[in-house]
Amino acid sequence: MGSNYGQNVCDLELEVVSYFERLWQGIKGDNHGSVVTSGTEGNINGLYLARETLPSATLFFSSETHYSVKKAARMLRINTCEVHSQEKGEIDYVHFQEQLKHHKPDNIILVANCGTTVKGAYDNIARLRQILLMEGYNEKDFYIHSDAALSGLILPFIEDAPYGITPNLNGLSDSISVSGHKMLGTPMPCGVFVARRAAVERISNKISYLRSSDTTIMGSRNGHSVLSIWYSLVKKGRTGLAEATQNSLNKANYLLQKLKSACVPTFCNNYSITVVFPAPPDEIISRYQLACESGLAHVVTMPSVSYDTIDLFIHDYCKWWRSENAKQAIEEGVV
Ligand SMILES: *Cc1c(COP(=O)(O)O)cnc(C)c1O
Repeated sequence: MGSNYGQNVCDLELEVVSYFERLWQGIKGDNHGSVVTSGTEGNINGLYLARETLPSATLFFSSETHYSVKKAARMLRINTCEVHSQEKGEIDYVHFQEQLKHHKPDNIILVANCGTTVKGAYDNIARLRQILLMEGYNEKDFYIHSDAALSGLILPFIEDAPYGITPNLNGLSDSISVSGHKMLGTPMPCGVFVARRAAVERISNKISYLRSSDTTIMGSRNGHSVLSIWYSLVKKGRTGLAEATQNSLNKANYLLQKLKSACVPTFCNNYSITVVFPAPPDEIISRYQLACESGLAHVVTMPSVSYDTIDLFIHDYCKWWRSENAKQAIEEGVV
C-alpha cells in the first residue's frame, strides 16, 4: 500500500505477496496479502476475513488441525464443529458430510490442512468442496482457508501433486497462509497471508493519517521479516526451492525405508516430509528434540536436517526398537 513514512519495505512486501499469488495459482491482481508475524497470525487473519464475510457461519476443521485455529475461533467468537481425522491425519470426509447433515448451518467456514502439524497430512479441498455442493451449498455460502504453514512452500514444487491438495487461490481456497521460518528458515518467526481481494475489501479501513488502507491485524509491522523472506526467495529462486523440496522428500523416504526395514510401524503421507513412528524413550526424544503426541513422534526432514543426523537417529532408534521387541518376545514366551 505504501505510506507517508519513508523508511519502509512496502515494495518488497508487494513483491513477496505477488510471488505467493503466483505460487498459489491466484489470478494476477485478484489477491491481497501481507507478511505476518507467524503462521498463527495468518490463520487468525483468514478466520477474521471469513467471519466478516459470513458472520453467522460455523467453522469446521479436523481434529488434527493446529491449535492456533481453535484459538482464533475463540478470539473471534466463531461457533465450531470438530470433524474426525483419519488414522494418517487427513480429514474424515464421511464424518464431515455427516456433521453437515446434522448441524445444517446456513454458512460454513472451513479450515483445510495443507500439511498437518503432527502427521503431515493433506485435506483434499476439491473433495471437500464437492461435499459442500452435494449438500446444497453454493459458492457464496462458504469460505475456505487453507493452513499451509509448512507445505505452502512444498506442494507447489511437486509436479505430480494432485490438484485438490495443492495451494490454489483460483477455485479452491479463499485464503492461504504459510510460515516463513519453516521451509524458508528465516531467522525470526514470520509468515505470509494471501486472500482473494473481495474478502479483504470488506474489512479495509482507510486510515488517512497513514495515507494507506488498514487491512492487517497488526499496526506497526516488522520490516526485517519482509526482507528476510524476500531475500530467501530471491537467493534460492524457483530452482533452489524445488531442489530443497526434492531433497527433503528424498530424506523423508530414506528415513521411512530404513525404519520399515527394521520393522518399525511407520508412515509418511504422500508428498509429505513428516515421518511418523512410535515415540521412543525420553533420552532419545531429548537427544533429537523430537515432537511427540499421543504415543507418536515424528521427524520432519527440513532442509537443515542432514543425512548424518538421520543416520545417527536411525542407529539409536533402531537399537532401542530391537531391544524393546526382544523384551516383548521374551515376555510373550516367543523366545
Ligand atoms: C507450525 C504450524 C502453524 C503455526 O505456525 P507458526 O508460524 O508457528 O505460528 C499452523 N499450522 C500448522 C499446520 C503448523 O504446522
